[in-house]
Amino acid sequence: MSPVNISTNKLTIGYIDKVVQRDLTFDIHTGEVIALLGPNGSGKTTLLRTLAGLQPALSGSISPALDAHNMALVLTERLSLDNTSIHDVVAMGRYPYTSFLGGLTQEDEEVIRQSLVAVGLGIDGANRFFNALSDGDKQRVLIAKALAQQTDLILLDEPTAHLDLPNRIRIFGLLQQLAHNEHKMVLISTHELDLALATCDRVLLFGAAGSWIGPVEELKSAKAFDKAFQMDIFKWFRPQP
Ligand code: ADP
Repeated sequence: MSPVNISTNKLTIGYIDKVVQRDLTFDIHTGEVIALLGPNGSGKTTLLRTLAGLQPALSGSISPALDAHNMALVLTERLSLDNTSIHDVVAMGRYPYTSFLGGLTQEDEEVIRQSLVAVGLGIDGANRFFNALSDGDKQRVLIAKALAQQTDLILLDEPTAHLDLPNRIRIFGLLQQLAHNEHKMVLISTHELDLALATCDRVLLFGAAGSWIGPVEELKSAKAFDKAFQMDIFKWFRPQP
């Protein structure tokens, strides 16, 4: 497996009056996609927010510390960016590098162009309004914004939540390609078990009884999954022909 780039050590996450997951010790390797799975309320968003530095860990550590220079976060909430062009949304990814007044250099413009190309949109039509796009294209623009940040790690919180099947497949395929071909690290919180099994390399699973991490191939045999969801989920999957 490729080198470890990010490690957590006994990371306990949650809120002042509530531990959500405790003692999380795991690594993220260059070039892999990790699916973060678990029932509602098991702590997926809390982990992403903690890794991104939006809330403090209750204890434990993340090494190296993550900030906007080495981590890009793609959140789910439906952004209302009135009168903002596709170009300007992606340009927001350059903020960690631009001057206080936010002037874009030629190099910034080139990164924006490459980011839009990478998600299959391209620079043509980048002056269209973000809000006029379909949900699938909006999600691709938000991933382009994360790419424009030029970080090795991309964290995504349920990026396919509002999408139809072709767009869900496209987004998972894109994330796999970014990890495997562009050597990004991708951690994606999702409820898409089938797509996660098909495209991700490892699973980090949260349940009421704790966490489990391992290769997708081991998920089925690991009883952790049934325990986390408190049901025999694979019973509902028809065996592959
Ligand atoms: P998931 O993303 O897996 O659905 P979350 O990380 O959103 O789970 O939430 C984990 C737990 O933390 C839930 O029980 C939720 O109610 C609780 N929680 C989320 N936000 C807060 C908050 N700001 N203060 C206290 N508890 C919270």
